[in-house]
Amino acid sequence: MKILFVASECAPFVKTGGLADVVGAVPKALEPLGAEVQTILPAYPALAPQVADGDVVHEFADLFGGPARLVAARAEGLNLLLLDAPHLYDRAGSIYLNDSDQDWEDNHLRFGALCVAATMVALDGVAGWKPQLVHAHDWQAGLVPLLIKMADRSDAPRTILTIHNIAFQGLFPWTTKNLFNIPDHLFTHEGAEYYGQLGFLKSGLAFADKITTVSPTYARELLTPSFGMGLDGLLQARQHDLSGILNGIDLDIWNPQTDPVLPANYSARNRVNKRKCRDAVASHFGLSVEPDTPLFCVISRLTEQKGLDLLLQVLPNLVERGGRLAVLGSGSPELEQGFQSAAETFAGKVGVVIGYDEALSHLMQGGSDAILVPSRFEPCGLTQLYGLRYGTLPVVAQTGGLADTVVDATKENLKAKTATGVQFSPIDAHHLGRAIERTCDLFAKPKVWKAMMGTAMRTPVGWADSAPKYLDLYREVAAV
Ligand code: ADP
Repeated sequence: MKILFVASECAPFVKTGGLADVVGAVPKALEPLGAEVQTILPAYPALAPQVADGDVVHEFADLFGGPARLVAARAEGLNLLLLDAPHLYDRAGSIYLNDSDQDWEDNHLRFGALCVAATMVALDGVAGWKPQLVHAHDWQAGLVPLLIKMADRSDAPRTILTIHNIAFQGLFPWTTKNLFNIPDHLFTHEGAEYYGQLGFLKSGLAFADKITTVSPTYARELLTPSFGMGLDGLLQARQHDLSGILNGIDLDIWNPQTDPVLPANYSARNRVNKRKCRDAVASHFGLSVEPDTPLFCVISRLTEQKGLDLLLQVLPNLVERGGRLAVLGSGSPELEQGFQSAAETFAGKVGVVIGYDEALSHLMQGGSDAILVPSRFEPCGLTQLYGLRYGTLPVVAQTGGLADTVVDATKENLKAKTATGVQFSPIDAHHLGRAIERTCDLFAKPKVWKAMMGTAMRTPVGWADSAPKYLDLYREVAAV
């Protein structure tokens, strides 16, 4: 089966969050099952080597203000269709934000162009390859189902849209619709319009044949006003087309047994070397760790969603209990500042690196005892999955994919040897504080902690369960 992925990021080439990991991993998991995926994404500067090595398969004389071409390349086990349009993508810095941390002013053109190019591939194919199905990811790909619908072709492939995070919706002034020739009868409250604006994500949700999101719990949460962020009504209307398929992780990249970043490798069976990794994290962050109190870590965007303001509130308690904390992240200036001053106040006990550092994130997964994920909402979350795989027990808010992937250390679960971490709810500072205390108590009982680590490290977190679910859905949708 031939499937076209449409996305704005893809690991290991370009990544700002979990979307990239998933877009980079799913095609590789689908290939052995007989699916043939091509992934179309913008040719940002990071992809220049792949563009240089690839083959030009299509040229656009003008795509929103300049010439563009599609370059096919095979790299890192993926089939890429790179949209090379220097006037849109050849710029330094973040793929979404300018130097002032504002969205690039032409993001509607940058990702609209991606959707237009993807629609051309979907309808006419390139180099003799035409997809049977299009799988669009997040708002940046949201116009594709609408543009395909507008083409009104009987041979058009069917479409699936996956919501990786509904907080990002791609809203633009209504006049933007003219750039894409969206007719008035589709620019309605039931269609592409969101309170007078053009909604890229909304267009996808309204016109895709099926909608998925990245965990079963988030699929249910999205139907409620507090999680649906204004799109819950539309999702309720389409709830029979909505399902949650849990994310997995790339087991080759995230493997403590082979991870080249770790100073010493370890496995579920032989974990002694995790101590060496712990020492390496402690030394990197300037922390004085103790054998009987846990080293917590955070690897995250520092934003309101991630609930890290709650962690700042309970940090004195964490330190008082003998816990240590290593934080890697970047984002809101207030949170960056908050963690930096906490590192000064609790020198040797709290360490912070502001920035994005893939290698350091691997080291921290290897060397920490527990990973904190106190998100207010979390579609799936990946860092807790890496934590499970590395025996770094997740301490998580009970929401979205966090609720689906971590088994709380209740008395019953501990007895049944199914516990893999700590969950808390409601999501507030008080209950996060209690969860940290429970974690410290559990850590103080080495037998219990070791048993949990063993269960966590043996939990299946790859794509073995979820990749076939995508394939089943593709077959169901394409067969209609
Ligand atoms: P989200 O997509 O909402 O940011 P996820 O947990 O789904 O959250 O995915 C985040 C991904 O980004 C993970 O792979 C995580 O390891 C990575 N990550 C987040 N912040 C950093 C950072 N500062 N440095 C390195 N990796 C990071």
